[in-house]
Amino acid sequence: MTTLGDVTDALLARIDARRDELIDLTRELIGFPTVNPPGAGYAECAQFIGARLAQRGFTVEYVRAVGTPGDSERYPRINVIARREGNGPGPCVHFNSHIDVVQAGAGWSLAPFAGLVRDGRVYGRGACDMKGGLAASIVAVESLLDCGARWPGAVEISGTVDEESGGYGGVHYLAERGWFSPPRVDHVIIPEPLNPDRVCIGHRGVWWAEIETHGRIAHGSMPFLGNCAIRHMEAVLHRFEQELFPKLKARTTDMPVVPSGARHSTLNLNSLHGGQAEQASGLPAPCVPDSCRLTIDRRLLIEESLEGVKAEVVDILERLTREREGFRYSIRDILEVIPSMADRNGPVARSTAAAIRRVIGRDPEFICSPGTYDQKHIDRVGKLKDCIAYGPGLLDLAHQPDEYVGIDDLVTSAKVMALAAWSLLNRVA
Ligand SMILES: [Zn+2]
Repeated sequence: MTTLGDVTDALLARIDARRDELIDLTRELIGFPTVNPPGAGYAECAQFIGARLAQRGFTVEYVRAVGTPGDSERYPRINVIARREGNGPGPCVHFNSHIDVVQAGAGWSLAPFAGLVRDGRVYGRGACDMKGGLAASIVAVESLLDCGARWPGAVEISGTVDEESGGYGGVHYLAERGWFSPPRVDHVIIPEPLNPDRVCIGHRGVWWAEIETHGRIAHGSMPFLGNCAIRHMEAVLHRFEQELFPKLKARTTDMPVVPSGARHSTLNLNSLHGGQAEQASGLPAPCVPDSCRLTIDRRLLIEESLEGVKAEVVDILERLTREREGFRYSIRDILEVIPSMADRNGPVARSTAAAIRRVIGRDPEFICSPGTYDQKHIDRVGKLKDCIAYGPGLLDLAHQPDEYVGIDDLVTSAKVMALAAWSLLNRVA
């Protein structure tokens, strides 16, 4: 019988031997400019992943998220899911990566889709977020097959789309159709860039909303004839400063969010639009503004409810309605995500942590992400709790010019993923 020790040594050696292949795969994936929006090149990238895994005995399926935002004949939302059965019944371990990347943007000193290798790093848009992680998970699973170890259950690798725009054509679509639920899948690792010595067990929630104050238009020379929506919005902002911001700052969480500044409830004022647009001459419109719109980005802690968070804002607006003459408002939800946090003593977190101890030789840090990623859909829609994010690269580099992933990080994280998968499949964790 094969013991964990034998397999561990063989796996680690195998992954070291495939270092160059891991670099090449990362470069090839970066070479697909899967920029979202608009969602370019998804089919080509998905087929590349599927063709590679089909050669290794995976059953490959392509799922187009027909009718989801952005899906069109020109930019089809194509996901790839590959499954490899083991030697008998057992759990399924799934590695899920998004294949979309954000726009390259300005400020690059090198070609963003060339996959340049320099100073022990692979550079390119998506290098860390998250084609490096996808490549590491593929090499991890292939190495598990290479070293001939028999294992029960099944392994899946998916490349999904549109994470950067909410995941509706990707993980959300698939989760709604059972692709991320037991009994098909039991454990999920999402190789987002969170450093190879950290296990990310979840993320905060989000509420985006637009608040509009309403006024009455009048000539700017006689503001007393109108009702200024911007002054009403100023009253809202004043209450936020006086009441809401201090309250949010004082609220703390048991979620180990990194950076620690995000271990509080936070509120960002995303944008403010008020009054009439400037005239063609460039001069301001001489009018009393009848509308002012504020968009807010409220991030929630696991201890908070979406209803409570909304009620807190609505309460301020309702009090202003009672107390302030001429105050009228409306509010509109734009986006809602509930916080998600896996059990740090659950199988996937525990086995990944043990693998980090074995490969890196120190205790991992358990963290939560200040922003969200596809875990929300797996948790809320797929009803699968045993999901974490773990992968190579530094989160700070994501979406930046000259994004890169360290090659040592790629190799280290591939080792951790392989060991974690092995122990999950064999239920040793
Ligand atoms: Zn990402």
